[in-house]
Amino acid sequence: KAKLDGKSTVIAYDPGEEVQITERNQQLREIATAINEDQFVLFFQPKVTLSTGNIFGFEALIRWQHPQKGLLMPDKFIDQVYDTELEVSLGQWVICRALKQLAEWQQAGHNYQLSINLTAYHLSTSDFIDWLQQQIKRYPDLDTRRFQIEILESNRLSDLSLISNVVEFCKSEFGITTALDDFGTGYSSLTHIRVLPVDVVKVDQTFVRRMLTEPEDCKIVEGVIALAQSFNIQVIAEGVESIAHGEVLLAMGCNQAQGYALAKPLPGEQIKNFLANYEPFTQWCAQSDLLKN
Ligand code: C2E
Ligand code: MG
Ligand code: MG
Ligand code: MG
Repeated sequence: KAKLDGKSTVIAYDPGEEVQITERNQQLREIATAINEDQFVLFFQPKVTLSTGNIFGFEALIRWQHPQKGLLMPDKFIDQVYDTELEVSLGQWVICRALKQLAEWQQAGHNYQLSINLTAYHLSTSDFIDWLQQQIKRYPDLDTRRFQIEILESNRLSDLSLISNVVEFCKSEFGITTALDDFGTGYSSLTHIRVLPVDVVKVDQTFVRRMLTEPEDCKIVEGVIALAQSFNIQVIAEGVESIAHGEVLLAMGCNQAQGYALAKPLPGEQIKNFLANYEPFTQWCAQSDLLKN
């Protein structure tokens, strides 16, 4: 390791770095096994129309049911897969699982939208479209207009005009909608809204959560809503943690929301029960009317 091709060039040897690499390889092997052994699960977080309190859809969020460590959140493993071949494998697993869920809901007579998270890099891989078409063919009766892809920026550079074509194709062929996730935090949010024919912008939760206490965050949320409106793109706020958030968002013209104040992500098997007991609440409407007067 220390010597380079027999010459006397000595390169810096950092044992700490080597330990990190080995650990990462170990973890990647573990994730690959986990995919094969079906240790990942999707949770589903409701999306709500603020003016009616009705649930119109769900976002699928991945978790890892680890045999020793218990239920792991994506921040414990998702960054590790980026820039490796597992980025695509995991995305494929999510698509398969989500299509199955959507088909089940539709068979039970529900018309919910289901969104999944995919990296821009995965969308730009050469066989993405063919592969997706194959998966969708397995569900001849599926209404794919209720399927949505939330586009995440990963570390890999991806070709925007290629992604633009993929977004266009998903829409024209299947009616699949797309959203720009974490809007405002990426390297090139403005370029993305300019170039990609997306349907929805998701205002990043870091801005939304702080919008009631930090005037700067409030201005950004207000600006993103106005920007989306001027592009004729829908806007949804994530990180709605209180009724007051809903109230202010409605007053700003944002009618779709996701957040702990509405509902936390739920395991698939709890959804039926959750929906049976769900009562739409619209406290924010009363309050935002007060705001206007
Ligand atoms: P995201 O796509 O922006 O998802 C929203 C995250 O915010 C979720 O965290 C959700 O549980 C959390 N959240 C929702 N409402 C609130 C709230 O009111 N307050 C707070 N503090 N948090 C809220 P989660 O499930 O831990 O996921 C984190 C991130 O991991 C996601 O952010 C997404 O970037 C990534 N991720 C999740 N599932 C997948 C997946 O299937 N594939 C990929 N590539 N990434 C995923
Ligand atoms: Mg998302
Ligand atoms: Mg987000
Ligand atoms: Mg995020």
